[in-house]
Amino acid sequence: MTIRRLARSHRSIDKVRCECGTEILILPDVTAMSKAIDAHVIVHIQKLKASARTTAETERIRDNLIAQVFSKASQSENSEK
Ligand SMILES: [Zn+2]
Repeated sequence: MTIRRLARSHRSIDKVRCECGTEILILPDVTAMSKAIDAHVIVHIQKLKASARTTAETERIRDNLIAQVFSKASQSENSEK
């Protein structure tokens, strides 16, 4: 997957949006991108009711953001062809 290339291309597709409305920049470094997502997931979960702070919910929020990154990366690939 070409997250690096996506971030380098720097078009209007360089952000993902969490379901809470927070936008996270897609970073050129996969490790940094992953850290940015994890950092948001922690903040996001802390805003939820205690009963909603489950591992499953944490994974769902993270998966949603990662899926958007991959989706945008593939859109970027397609538009370059
Ligand atoms: Zn969020």
